[in-house]
Amino acid sequence: MATQILPAHGRPLARGETRLEVDRILCDGYGMCAELLPELIELDDWGYPIVHSLVPRHLAGVARRAVDVCPVLALKLRSGR
Ligand code: SF4
Repeated sequence: MATQILPAHGRPLARGETRLEVDRILCDGYGMCAELLPELIELDDWGYPIVHSLVPRHLAGVARRAVDVCPVLALKLRSGR
């Protein structure tokens, strides 16, 4: 099943939605997040992550792992209430 890419930036999150966010100041471009979660994160030409979408429910666990492995704590999951 293909992952549906949903636009998420620029609007508040609805209840139950989760968005992956990158702190571009903290990020050192190690790229481990993109290796773990290529469905949602790609790297730009300099190795910095581009996050494309809301986190689908079936990728929530992998997204949490991506947050946990970031060596500089630059990834964050934000959920709507
Ligand atoms: S794992 Fe962290 S430091 Fe590495 S590219 Fe992803 S957000 Fe940046």
